[in-house]
Amino acid sequence: MAAPQIDQFTQALFGKVESVIIVCAILILVVGIPLYWLRLKAERGLIRVIRSSRNRRQIQKSAPDTNSFETAPHCPICNALMVKRLARRGSRSGSTFWGCSNYPKCRGTRAI
Ligand SMILES: [Zn+2]
Repeated sequence: MAAPQIDQFTQALFGKVESVIIVCAILILVVGIPLYWLRLKAERGLIRVIRSSRNRRQIQKSAPDTNSFETAPHCPICNALMVKRLARRGSRSGSTFWGCSNYPKCRGTRAI
């Protein structure tokens, strides 16, 4: 008389275990895949944000470098800081040179 009871118990137990596994699988499918997809999307967005902020930082860094006050020489005439300029006229047209920041008041130049 004990054997059928044990069978029923094991059947019920396995039925429960099976249903739990099925519920878990459904949960993983329903919740896990969208979460994974969201994670992928979020990571891509983060990478984009990091890249754009890095680019912005590089632009901010490189922008003052062209007129860097540390490397810029002083004007031989008025001793003001000089600025890199592009020669548009004359024999040196197209080449860069140091021009006085007080231009056009001061026309001091230096070769780079
Ligand atoms: Zn000058």
